[in-house]
Amino acid sequence: MDDSGKSRSRGPWTVAEARAIHDLPLTELLHRAQSEHRRHHPPNAVQLCTLLSVKTGGCPEDCAYCPQSARHQTGMEAESLLPVDVVLEKARLAKQQGATRFCMGAAWRNARNGTQFDQVLQMVRGVRELGLEACATLGMIGDDQARQLADAGLTAYNHNLDTSQEFYGEIISTRSFQERLDTIKRVSESGISVCSGGIIGMGESVGDRLGMLVTLANLEPPPESVPINALVPVPGTPLAERPPVDALELVRMCATARMMIPTAMVRLSAGRTEMTREAQLLCFQAGANSIFFGDKLLTTGNPDTHADLALMRDAGLEPLVPFAERPQSSDSDTNDASTSASSVQFVSGADDSSHRSHKVSNAIVS
Ligand code: SF4
Repeated sequence: MDDSGKSRSRGPWTVAEARAIHDLPLTELLHRAQSEHRRHHPPNAVQLCTLLSVKTGGCPEDCAYCPQSARHQTGMEAESLLPVDVVLEKARLAKQQGATRFCMGAAWRNARNGTQFDQVLQMVRGVRELGLEACATLGMIGDDQARQLADAGLTAYNHNLDTSQEFYGEIISTRSFQERLDTIKRVSESGISVCSGGIIGMGESVGDRLGMLVTLANLEPPPESVPINALVPVPGTPLAERPPVDALELVRMCATARMMIPTAMVRLSAGRTEMTREAQLLCFQAGANSIFFGDKLLTTGNPDTHADLALMRDAGLEPLVPFAERPQSSDSDTNDASTSASSVQFVSGADDSSHRSHKVSNAIVS
């Protein structure tokens, strides 16, 4: 039995079971989630991922939260695909700053074959040659495209469910929930890891949030990576007036995701600019073990890198090495962070001692 009182050889998750975890008293929930976390992951390591929009704006889809949709009046100009060398320079910089995963996003309904897809393949190869995990999010992809991305070395493909099947129609009308599941299946069958999560704060119920986690947890296999985002309301989008998400709701989502999909990386994603350091640390305690690192997400803001490095330093957290270099976890070998995380020293910047940078003393991420 695990700490949720469930047999490990369990059947499919139900929303009622997810709710029983989600609604636990917070200290109990944190305890159980952290215990589950330690069974599968080094306890004090957080992966730093950098996200770059390689093709911004002008998207034909109508996702209600997204400033990149051409259907919303957000003033965002559509840009063309960034050149490969520009993307790889950004990836190099991200690595220098401590990131171990580089995620490339393109505002497409679906990736089209031809020059642009070939350029994306070059980006993937280049990012992997730098020793970084490579993730891409390009909209819907076909079997052949998934194979080509796998052959190029793509580590993970992000395709979020966004919300529950029941609430989905309130947020997106141009792509069905089933199409999302089909893309995820293609990615999974190609051997690329699946990164899929969602957004809270869009007007959905707690049941919808948990319905999304239930769908993800019941995938065969469940995603390797689960981003949990809080809505960043952007003027000009239909969700511009949504009230902010309470940080404790994010904590509960991270903890529930950790309990339901214990092996996944739980990525505390959009919305961190509105969170205190303490709230972010509660999310780590709840089992979140990755953040997006860099001053910008695809188009919205993110805490600056100095603030994130200071948070890591002050909390004694270490950056996680790329997954390809991580020892396989097992119940008996994951309580020693030193075997799995790089060793990191936080050092004062030469020009300004108040600006901290970090030096990673590990061959893998040096
Ligand atoms: S979330 Fe993606 S698919 Fe939806 S509008 Fe934005 S860029 Fe397009």
